[in-house]
Amino acid sequence: MKAVTWQGKRKVSVDTVPDPTIEQPTDAIIKITSTNICGSDLHLYETLGAFLDPGDILGHEPMGIVQEVGSEVGDLRVGDRVVIPFQMACGHCFMCEQTLFSQCETTQVRESGSGAALFGYSKLYGQVPGGQAEYLRVPQAQFTHIKVPDGPSDDRFVYLSDVLPTAWQAVAYADVPAGGTLVVLGLGPIGDMCCRIAQTLPIARVIGVDLVP
Ligand SMILES: [Zn+2]
Ligand SMILES: [Zn+2]
Repeated sequence: MKAVTWQGKRKVSVDTVPDPTIEQPTDAIIKITSTNICGSDLHLYETLGAFLDPGDILGHEPMGIVQEVGSEVGDLRVGDRVVIPFQMACGHCFMCEQTLFSQCETTQVRESGSGAALFGYSKLYGQVPGGQAEYLRVPQAQFTHIKVPDGPSDDRFVYLSDVLPTAWQAVAYADVPAGGTLVVLGLGPIGDMCCRIAQTLPIARVIGVDLVP
């Protein structure tokens, strides 16, 4: 298959690499139909390069169609349309039961003291091949997926992988009282989504601040 691989600082390329295969009964293989480039990918492009090897597949915001499943993937079926979140989570450990999925104890990368394993995000997060590729192996697939309906186009769903819940959580943590005011500093994609999310809540005033008028 074709995949976007990291080759060095500020250097990525599209290469032909081996197709992923089922390695564990909890794995699924997804045929990717859409995938985003994230601001977080810029960290890999620059400063986190020390934690990648040439050939590592990037990408953590994909969606697609389930192509193949292991024997322990719950109700996930071949043909299901799914968004794959940034982090891999089992859904049944202590942390997952507290809904702290990004700290999943089953996939946690303890050697580097980080949280749950992340797709395409360096040795610090498990060096798991990412989703800027034609196919993706999804570990802990019984829980690491969001099923979405057929019909609407991919761009209606693909932001569920990272940016939309990240923005949602930022607004939730701000915990603005009804009738209060929210200030959002920085209007990149996350800040922009924070403003839009805030406008769906009983927040009286949303003020967006950015260097670009
Ligand atoms: Zn992202
Ligand atoms: Zn877990």
